[in-house]
Amino acid sequence: MDLFEVPKPALDVAGVQGRFPVHRIYCVGRNYAAHAREMGNDPAREPPFYFMKPADAVVPGGGRVTYPPRTADLHHEIELVVAIGRRGADIPAATALEHVFGYAVGIDLTRRDLQADAKQHGRPWDTGKSFEQAAPVSRIHAAAAIGHPGTGRIWLTVNGELRQEGDLADMIWNVAEAIAELSTYFTLAPGDLLFTGTPAGVGAVARGDRLHGGVEGVDEIEIILA
Ligand code: MN
Repeated sequence: MDLFEVPKPALDVAGVQGRFPVHRIYCVGRNYAAHAREMGNDPAREPPFYFMKPADAVVPGGGRVTYPPRTADLHHEIELVVAIGRRGADIPAATALEHVFGYAVGIDLTRRDLQADAKQHGRPWDTGKSFEQAAPVSRIHAAAAIGHPGTGRIWLTVNGELRQEGDLADMIWNVAEAIAELSTYFTLAPGDLLFTGTPAGVGAVARGDRLHGGVEGVDEIEIILA
């Protein structure tokens, strides 16, 4: 018997009764050249790197999100999210897509001021990236239903105004490559999510803002900051 009740975060799956239990949330940093440039980095010289958010940071389906404490610069990052369905380590890129259960749309909410301070001092990113409700994610669509999107528009509006726009084809490391590299560090398992990076146009949002984003061929997500 467990001593306490703890959250068991899970995501809905389109057209399926059962839910997708969230095990770990991995995120790729700087995976679109234009976003790497806007953050002051050279996109050509860096292999993919990763950070994590706790599983219970997920906000299933979006909706109301509380503006987090200790920041004056909360940023949106719209991202394609990969849902892992098969265990594996040292996965070759050539077979990496066989480990994908499906895809969703997520927003990597970021306390940019805390992240910038961490970078400046060579400290971990956790306070900037891994807070409560930092990972709103849409329902998942099985790859068996929608395939593996390698191209398609990715976008985000704030209060109806377009802020981020790109194409999945602009990813520096595609989904298969991002999975392959990640699996050299960690054993991937069913229930893992991988945020695959954001296109250019990140920026600050405020209480009361309505964020609406999507990935062509996958889904859309909407959150309201309260
Ligand atoms: Mn991100």
